[in-house]
Amino acid sequence: MIVGILALQGAVREHRTSLERLGIESRIVKTMDGLRGLSGLVLPGGESTAMALLADSDFLGRLKALARSGFPMFGTCAGMILLATGVQGRSAGYIEAIDITVSRNASGRQVDSFETLLDIDEIGKDVPAVFIRAPYITGHGSTVRPMASHDGHCVMAREANILVASFHPELTEDTRVHEYFVGMVKETIP
Ligand code: GLN
Repeated sequence: MIVGILALQGAVREHRTSLERLGIESRIVKTMDGLRGLSGLVLPGGESTAMALLADSDFLGRLKALARSGFPMFGTCAGMILLATGVQGRSAGYIEAIDITVSRNASGRQVDSFETLLDIDEIGKDVPAVFIRAPYITGHGSTVRPMASHDGHCVMAREANILVASFHPELTEDTRVHEYFVGMVKETIP
């Protein structure tokens, strides 16, 4: 099993390290061809507007089709913005794979970045989480399961094969969030 990491821009290497710690092989994905043979995909943090510019509409369309087919995807921070159906201030989402609305940069500016411990449903207690100009989930559909909150804001959720987090688990040494995603991927392998 190979998990891809979308590498248009952003915190790619750190996700590789987290997956390596779990003994999972990963592959850097920059083009549509790179999606072949993967069992799941991580969409890292970075700058969602830059990523959306770097991915042409064919690529975003292909990711949308994959998400609909049940292919597991995990978006952190900017990756979560790419996967959301609604982005405040925009008329449409990008990949539109999970029925959530997000508010960009809701956790504050770069200098307001912080680390905290979260209790995450199905994952565990005191999971370290780094927030960097993080988006918050401001609304979600009935089939979305909120999994964690910070300061009254929803910061992690799952809908079927799609997992999203406002924060960066890959910037810590705790691998529980990646382990949970790897579990989702394994469930889809016959
Ligand atoms: N604020 C960024 C965006 O809107 C996300 C920040 C991050 O990924 N750390 O894309």
